[in-house]
Amino acid sequence: MPAPLTVLDTLGRPMRDLRVSVTDRCNFRCGYCMPREVYGPDHAFLPRAEILSYEEIERVVRASVALGVRKVRLTGGEPLVRRELETLIRMLASIEGIEDLTLTTNGTLLAQKAQALADAGLHRVTVSLDALDDETFMRMNDAGVPVATVLEGMAAAEAAGLGPIKLNAVIRRGMNEHAVLDLAERFRGTETTVRFIEYMDVGHTNGWRLDDVVPAGEILSRIDARWPLEPIDPDYRGEVAQRWRYRDGAGEIGVISSVTQPFCGDCTRARLSADGSIYTCLFATAGHDLRPLLRSGASDDAVTDCLRGIWTGRTDRYSELRTLDTVDLPKVEMSYIGG
Ligand code: SF4
Repeated sequence: MPAPLTVLDTLGRPMRDLRVSVTDRCNFRCGYCMPREVYGPDHAFLPRAEILSYEEIERVVRASVALGVRKVRLTGGEPLVRRELETLIRMLASIEGIEDLTLTTNGTLLAQKAQALADAGLHRVTVSLDALDDETFMRMNDAGVPVATVLEGMAAAEAAGLGPIKLNAVIRRGMNEHAVLDLAERFRGTETTVRFIEYMDVGHTNGWRLDDVVPAGEILSRIDARWPLEPIDPDYRGEVAQRWRYRDGAGEIGVISSVTQPFCGDCTRARLSADGSIYTCLFATAGHDLRPLLRSGASDDAVTDCLRGIWTGRTDRYSELRTLDTVDLPKVEMSYIGG
């Protein structure tokens, strides 16, 4: 394989990570992402004809790998609601140059699918779990799914070799800040790393307010007061979570602090929506539609050139520029491009 190019955006950031949303559908209705009052029974999801086929996704991923992408994460909506996802995973796992092929899931379908995903070549999974008590968790997922279902999925993923699992928990004031210590206690001393995520003003339908944000600093102090922590240096440029280890050796946790400690300077992530648009920021208001090109008979080189042009023109650093005025911008929904 020819040595990959390293394309840099206008702030000198390489494109290292591609997040691929394979569907805009989900079986949860988390208020911070897909509130039921917006995504109700009449919500029009993307029509099938507009959704990229696995072959089209593979072409975009190959083009991105030629431009330096090393990590591919499958997302949604909930990626496991898309049929035969293992077929796509098998295609992507055969692409030389991908060092990390991962998937973010709410874990509800993991118990059934973990082994097939691992057999297809998936490296590991990240599971979202916002609380350990059913009352809070079911209120947050608004789909009546208990914690046990997700824990069973995590056990199946570990048994299939998709660990060590990273666990994401979005912490929202007045809703689940008690879960910080619950989750820390439950997963201390295990292979699972809990990453606590500041509640973000993604999209424009979750009614985000700054008052509902529990800052990463507060999350860390809550845990440190109980189990002293010390910082760990990042593994690589662009690592999203700040890492902290327990001083007593019981493992580590992470915090993702887009609101209070933005990390745009090292952001190496591009996102592909299920209908074929490239977004260069989680908080973008517009994407670059690749679908016409993909369906025009254009060559793979043309797709690579187009992607190179998108990235080299990138200027995004929303979290560094966030103000209360930017909150209401018509930003793309997270369920549409994956977190
Ligand atoms: S706000 Fe945008 S540019 Fe900044 S870290 Fe997030 S995705 Fe990257």
